[in-house]
Amino acid sequence: MRVATIFGIDIKIHFGWIFIFGLVAWSLSSDIGPLQHVRVSAGGRVALALVTALLFFASVVAHELSHSLVARSRGIPIKGITLFVFGGVSSLGGEPQTAAVEGWVALVGPLTSFALAAVFFAIGAALGLKTASGAASGYLALANGALGAFNLLPAYPLDGGRLFHALAWRRSGDILQATRSAVRVSRVVAIALMVYGALQTLVVGFGGGLWLIVIGWFLLEAGAAQGIQVQLASAIRGRTASHLMTPPPPPIPANATVAAAVDELIKRGARAAPVMLDSTLLGIVTFSDLAKLGAQSPGGAYVTSIMTRTQDLKAAAPGTGADELLKMLLEGSYHQIPVIDEVGNLVGFVTREGVLRRFAADVPSPQARSL
Ligand SMILES: [Zn+2]
Repeated sequence: MRVATIFGIDIKIHFGWIFIFGLVAWSLSSDIGPLQHVRVSAGGRVALALVTALLFFASVVAHELSHSLVARSRGIPIKGITLFVFGGVSSLGGEPQTAAVEGWVALVGPLTSFALAAVFFAIGAALGLKTASGAASGYLALANGALGAFNLLPAYPLDGGRLFHALAWRRSGDILQATRSAVRVSRVVAIALMVYGALQTLVVGFGGGLWLIVIGWFLLEAGAAQGIQVQLASAIRGRTASHLMTPPPPPIPANATVAAAVDELIKRGARAAPVMLDSTLLGIVTFSDLAKLGAQSPGGAYVTSIMTRTQDLKAAAPGTGADELLKMLLEGSYHQIPVIDEVGNLVGFVTREGVLRRFAADVPSPQARSL
């Protein structure tokens, strides 16, 4: 759900966030919450809690916005900011190309939070912690300081994890090796959080400890996913359609009926086949094209009536980059992308299965297991 656009960057809210917002506002307005010493009416306390909660989430947005703005200034496209249960996340449309860019994009978030903490601290000190707005400022100073510090933990996907990765990358010059050590450190931090949370739960009782276990678990999962993602990204770097494609299956003649084409696809165990008239590619027929017949029986119709015509095909060139191909496969939810050369010949198919098989061969399994 989009709620705002700041500096051309969309701010979206995940529905779980509304629950957390309610939780924060409720704990702020409770008699034992951080604002308990403020002397206001019950209604006034609720209003103060709501405003404080809103300012806290504005601080989270400012933190994310700083990531996005620095990333954009370094040429990385920005997809938007989403607020969800664990805070905020900035979606970048690409990976940083150098360690310095990655490091700055990561570091600016906690720096922004610390700066906000200092500002709120100054306001709180000036107004006095006994006043309503002073107490709220004091709380916001603490919350922003905690947000900045927590994000500096060296665990993916926290800023500290990325910062650690950038530093390791800069030192070794090897992004893959940096990823491996960052993922390893992430795992240690995540497990340490979970153990600490478990101890706290046992000693102090339920509450904060349980929350730490949940966060640790989340970090553990995210760290593993990040490792795989970076490894994939580096495995496909520099690859093109001509590396990843499989040769085109034998063509189905243009005068074949739909029934004959379906028989042929089933016999081959293939999802798609080119339809050719002599040596000219007319289009591609896939099982999904059968839906075009609707309730009609396929019997006598010609395959050319249901195929996707060449001019309507989402096709790649032999030089199309692997990242672009993956995007086409995933975003268009296609099973295969035909690869057509400059003179209009079908030279191959890039299929989901083919790409996976190629990566399985490229990424040595002991490495994959060490993630
Ligand atoms: Zn951050």
